[in-house]
Amino acid sequence: MTEQHYDVIIVGAGFAGIGAAIQLKRLGFENFVLLDREDDLGGTWYVNHYPGLTVDVPTTTYSYFFEPNPNWSRLFSTGGEIKQYADDVADKYDVRRHIRFNVCVDGARWDDEDSLWRVALADGSTLSARYLITATGFLSQPHTPEIPGIHSFEGRVIHTADWDDAFDASGKRIGVIGTGATGVQLIPELAKKAADLTVFQRTAIWVVPKVDIRFPERARRLFARFPIAQRAVRAITDSVYESFIFVGLHHRQTAFRRLNVGATDLAKMLRFAQIRDPELRRKLTPDYDLGCKRPTFSNRWYRTFTKPNVHLQAAGIESIEAGAVVAKDGTRTPIDTLVLATGFDLWEANFPAIEIVGREGRNLGKWWRETRFQAYQGVSIPYFPNFLSLASPSAFLGLNFFNTMEYQMTLMDRLFGEVKRRGATTFEVTEEANSRFLDTMTERIGDSVFVAGNCASSRSYYFNPQGEATLLRPTTTKSAIKQAAEFPLSDYRIA
Ligand code: NAP
Repeated sequence: MTEQHYDVIIVGAGFAGIGAAIQLKRLGFENFVLLDREDDLGGTWYVNHYPGLTVDVPTTTYSYFFEPNPNWSRLFSTGGEIKQYADDVADKYDVRRHIRFNVCVDGARWDDEDSLWRVALADGSTLSARYLITATGFLSQPHTPEIPGIHSFEGRVIHTADWDDAFDASGKRIGVIGTGATGVQLIPELAKKAADLTVFQRTAIWVVPKVDIRFPERARRLFARFPIAQRAVRAITDSVYESFIFVGLHHRQTAFRRLNVGATDLAKMLRFAQIRDPELRRKLTPDYDLGCKRPTFSNRWYRTFTKPNVHLQAAGIESIEAGAVVAKDGTRTPIDTLVLATGFDLWEANFPAIEIVGREGRNLGKWWRETRFQAYQGVSIPYFPNFLSLASPSAFLGLNFFNTMEYQMTLMDRLFGEVKRRGATTFEVTEEANSRFLDTMTERIGDSVFVAGNCASSRSYYFNPQGEATLLRPTTTKSAIKQAAEFPLSDYRIA
């Protein structure tokens, strides 16, 4: 079989892959492909469609900066609208024809002799490319907990990342495991219909009030006619988010700590306003600092637990039987449906999402685990030439994925632009630049809630298996974009 060759292979056709594709087009690349294991684009916004799914960042902020969307119906839009936005952007920028769906990538290996990547597919075939970009997201491998007896459960099991739209909760006795951002959105929806709903909570989540508004038709017309108006709204939502993340989470030791405390107070007031039972309130109160793990927004979460058909089980799960969940306090809850809102295997399955072997046989997954999780500017790793990993340690700017995409596209522009200008064919970040960047990130994270706060009991996926909070990049969006636009070109060997 002849091996098909591309200038660039992008793995993943979610918002990161689509953004990378748009940037490649701007740089003049046409011979590139996006490979996606699903049968449609949109990544997480295609895969997730459980009831109640909305974005938990205002959509004015949750969109490509260069592509404001006047069609959002509300400030916190539904999952369906976001999927539609992914479709619209992919079509507008003519990305769709570059996507190959239902293609599962097994791994990629750098061929030093031919200076290219060989990408192995699950069907046994191989593709090759000068450049490789992995856009595999952080939350793409659903996590099924290994609870004793879970496989002997005889009722229906549904993971939120594999939702059956035909499922009707009416009259069902449902047990939901998981109280992360997904559980917080789904549980109030299930509670409307279920005969009985028990929520199995291991770690309470911080929930703050959600200030949502519907965009009336005239506002949408205004946004369509004058995109500047929408940009003005975005400037506000961006600033609110940015201040919360940066000063609330990252500058823990400074006077800005008050912001973090302020958000904590808001959550406390919400609990107090919605729950009368002090014992229930106590169980729903996190015992770690806000920010250690992803907080979320909801005006319905606490109130849901006051409904007669909803119960909170916070004693921990001992085991699962054919028709029931047994808690550590001995309580046996009969259920006919088990909903797993148990999130994703992040560090285990996503760093990296496929096996990647660079120069001199360096295996990325092994190297990260044997040294530290690290990536220069959140995208480049020494010994991995012509490779950008968009879901890397120190990549995510926190809460809003599109800010991350903005600096990564800026970096692609500078890096590929320089490679082209020099008539070069390879780039690789130097070990010195990588170490310098890692030192800076380590120093900055030292002032964050992750190091200076109380995160011991949070079970947060922001922390890697070595206990370091290397998922987030502790800089402002502005500074990340500036660095992406101005990093010393000598940080890369370009040849
Ligand atoms: P998650 O935050 O990882 O939450 C998983 C939940 O399952 C946690 O409550 C966890 O408990 C529980 N769990 C896992 N294994 C368990 C076990 N063995 N026993 C008991 N409980 C167990 O996952 P998620 O809620 O799907 O959210 C993941 C991320 O997706 C969010 O943080 C957010 O970034 C994103 N998200 C975004 C949106 C949006 O914007 N619309 C919506 C949903 C999700 P522990 O906490 O004790 O581990």
